[in-house]
Amino acid sequence: MTASYDVDNIFAKILRGEIPCHKVFEDDNAIVFMDVMPQSTGHTLIVPKAPSRNLLDADAGVLSAIIPLIQRVAIAAKSAFGADGITFMQFNEGAGGQTVFHLHFHVIPRFEGEALKSHGRGMEEPGVLAANAEKLKAALAALD
Ligand code: AMP
Repeated sequence: MTASYDVDNIFAKILRGEIPCHKVFEDDNAIVFMDVMPQSTGHTLIVPKAPSRNLLDADAGVLSAIIPLIQRVAIAAKSAFGADGITFMQFNEGAGGQTVFHLHFHVIPRFEGEALKSHGRGMEEPGVLAANAEKLKAALAALD
């Protein structure tokens, strides 16, 4: 049986402002911030505010509203970090590779010839994350 949503998961705490993040964007529906253990430069998370563990229990309306934001972040990230491509990832339940149980989407800039680093390992320097958040914010603003 699948576990239920835990209101004390780390992304719920970020959404409530109880712990900090390197925020790039926020509106009524979602927050976007830098992954603290990036698998490549500019690895970004898009997190719907509505509570669900993952894709499997998410509201279909939440999913359809989030896709255009994911596209915007992907386009902005490609430009901000001079990437050659973007990998989009999303994990469901522990067996599916999920480690934080609040629905989120990974946008990962990719560079020709550069392999992805391991998932959820190797903390980045806060200064680097802050600088990357600023670059991505500027690239998002440039899309308007
Ligand atoms: P997953 O649940 O496997 O899709 O991945 C969770 C992701 O969240 C991993 O890539 C982690 O590096 C990242 N992560 C975990 N804690 C934080 C945090 N406090 N702030 C930003 N990213 C985080």
